[in-house]
Amino acid sequence: MSITFDVLTAGAGYAGAVAARALAEQGKRVLVLERRPHIGGNAYDRLDDAGVLIHQYGPHIFHTNNREVFDWLSRFTQWRDYQHRVVANIPDEKGGRMTYPVPFNLTSLETAFGPEEGRRLGDKLIAAYGAEKKVTILELRQNPDPEIAALADYVYEHVFVHYTMKQWGQKPEDIDPNTTARVPVFLSRDDRYFQDAYQGMPLEGYTPMFEKMLDHPNITVELGADALDRLDLSGDRIKVDGEPFDGPVIYTGQADELFGFKYGPLPYRTLDFRFETLSRDDFQNGYGTVNYTVDQDYTRITEFKHLTGQKVPGKTTIVKEYSKAYAGIFGEIPYYAIINPENNALYGQYKALAEGFDNLHLLGRLAEYKYYNMDAIAARALELAKELV
Ligand SMILES: Cc1cc2nc3c(=O)[nH]c(=O)nc-3n(C[C@H](O)[C@H](O)[C@H](O)COP(=O)(O)OP(=O)(O)OC[C@H]3O[C@@H](n4cnc5c(N)ncnc54)[C@H](O)[C@@H]3O)c2cc1C
Repeated sequence: MSITFDVLTAGAGYAGAVAARALAEQGKRVLVLERRPHIGGNAYDRLDDAGVLIHQYGPHIFHTNNREVFDWLSRFTQWRDYQHRVVANIPDEKGGRMTYPVPFNLTSLETAFGPEEGRRLGDKLIAAYGAEKKVTILELRQNPDPEIAALADYVYEHVFVHYTMKQWGQKPEDIDPNTTARVPVFLSRDDRYFQDAYQGMPLEGYTPMFEKMLDHPNITVELGADALDRLDLSGDRIKVDGEPFDGPVIYTGQADELFGFKYGPLPYRTLDFRFETLSRDDFQNGYGTVNYTVDQDYTRITEFKHLTGQKVPGKTTIVKEYSKAYAGIFGEIPYYAIINPENNALYGQYKALAEGFDNLHLLGRLAEYKYYNMDAIAARALELAKELV
């Protein structure tokens, strides 16, 4: 079999698909190998049995300040204007439950401490830091006023620490003080989760956006095709299907897996998504996502209809997210890299192996062992495509 493409991309998520399209438009013939039976990577969405549009790998909300990326993606989709709002659901002192916006803001203060007391504290914070400011709990703790310092402890306890322990499987003493220091209190009534200039959901969904992106005469997509079965990195030149290949190979899968876990596996957190379809119109009072920041084994519940705006009378699908250590067993998906100096050093060993091949490019959340939002990886993929032509 002779090689009929100029570039090989392993993975059809944001990294692989954006790079493939950008290179195809520069006249490169691109072969995209995707091991899953679908495109879109973790942003993949589909209709479930009840006809509800769900995000199979967890809720994805697009938000960015990067105009170039927004315009580029807008070639493949229209957008539904959607401003993500998240509330924390926590037990109250009377044995019931209360909800208030996160990030913790002036409205949260009034719900947590009562309208009068909350307003008084809010005025005090604004006098100290200014309106519309995001103040970290570290800054609040350092304030000589004991009431402000106590508020930092309240937010730490009710919004941050238990949630973080569930998410990362940590004990409080393991939690990096630098992370704690960054948790903000927002001195505003703006209860949106993101304040980015461009926010929304692809009008028809993510998968149709990816379909349009990959629909180009220079792109061939093979689904159910594992690049590891086709690539050979055992020599000093990359071989594809047994033949030497000197064109760019953009690899967006796990770096450790690409090299046969030679130095051991890179640690990850994985998620268990438990979907439920309920026979009712609404489950969360219109909220897309509710975080359980104090109790429950799951971290959050997402109700998809409220993200997508889809109308499905009498039915709604929710997903509960449970976070756990990734063990690498069949079917488990590595979702979050666990960034720390030890793991970064291990990743560095794999990166050095990759650098042994001039035409091998590691791109994306798995290949680069880092967290990327969708806009950030799209920006990086466009940049790499420019570098390659
Ligand atoms: C639960 C969750 C929620 C998120 N929510 C948001 C959000 O709200 N907003 C936001 O901006 N970002 C969000 N993200 C981040 C977003 O998912 C990433 O930015 C995006 O998925 C990164 O794209 P990628 O192409 O690097 O990786 P992926 O989407 O993982 O794509 C990699 C693809 O490569 C394929 N692959 C791997 N190995 C091989 C191989 N050997 N051969 C062939 N194919 C292979 C995989 O099957 C996969 O399809 C969220 C992430 C998670 C985990």
